[in-house]
Amino acid sequence: MNTKYCRDCGDYRPVSEFSKNARCRDGLAFYCREHLAERSLRSREARRTKPRVKRLPPPALVIPDGHKWCGDCGTVKSMDEFVRTRASRSGYGSYCLPCHAVRCRANADKRGGYRTYHLSRRYGITAEEANFLLERQGGLCAICKSAPAAHVDHDHATGAVRALLCFNCNGGLGQFKDNPEALHAAAYYVAFHTARQEIAAELAAAAHPPEGASRPGGPPVGSQRRPGARATGTRNTGRSSGTRRRTQAGEADP
Ligand SMILES: [Zn+2]
Ligand SMILES: [Zn+2]
Ligand SMILES: [Zn+2]
Repeated sequence: MNTKYCRDCGDYRPVSEFSKNARCRDGLAFYCREHLAERSLRSREARRTKPRVKRLPPPALVIPDGHKWCGDCGTVKSMDEFVRTRASRSGYGSYCLPCHAVRCRANADKRGGYRTYHLSRRYGITAEEANFLLERQGGLCAICKSAPAAHVDHDHATGAVRALLCFNCNGGLGQFKDNPEALHAAAYYVAFHTARQEIAAELAAAAHPPEGASRPGGPPVGSQRRPGARATGTRNTGRSSGTRRRTQAGEADP
């Protein structure tokens, strides 16, 4: 079932419990319906009790060309001391750079601190959701379960958060374009070639037993093969084992 994290619930809820919001990355509201309703009621109440007023420069103030009045510090400064934004007609924000920075920090703090702010801007999740996932995964990557989880992995088609992955696994998925068939084929390919090399080495060793073998079919002297161990494809010791065994048996590649 497709789920999404609701910060107010502190847990995942089915996506059907979220209303649509085209402005969000995944097309769904940030909070579940229940909490969204609660929050909009509260903010409507807040707006009613203290309505927002647009600050204007004092009428007698003369503002030279290429200058702007900052509504926060109340000083006139050169345009290049204002933040650039595409949201306003002038191309500049309402506040000078130092005042803008103060406002950004205040907004970030309101939303749960800078970590939350950056995570939600970059990945669309809050620090709480990241911590929730991290704890649920025991701090480790959801695929290899050995490296530390470092990335928030998204379904690129839907924007939904899948899990936290390590650097390598996250990159690996990207190289395979998140395609399950390609990833299955790659896994099969690696397993198949490992098994093939091991079987070829077994057959070569059986056809030409090295001199000094203690008994037919037994392990060669000095071999690291355990007596009676069946080194077939089922004993997958890694990619190089077949090659190593072949070299020990003195056999060239067929
Ligand atoms: Zn909720
Ligand atoms: Zn200012
Ligand atoms: Zn990993």
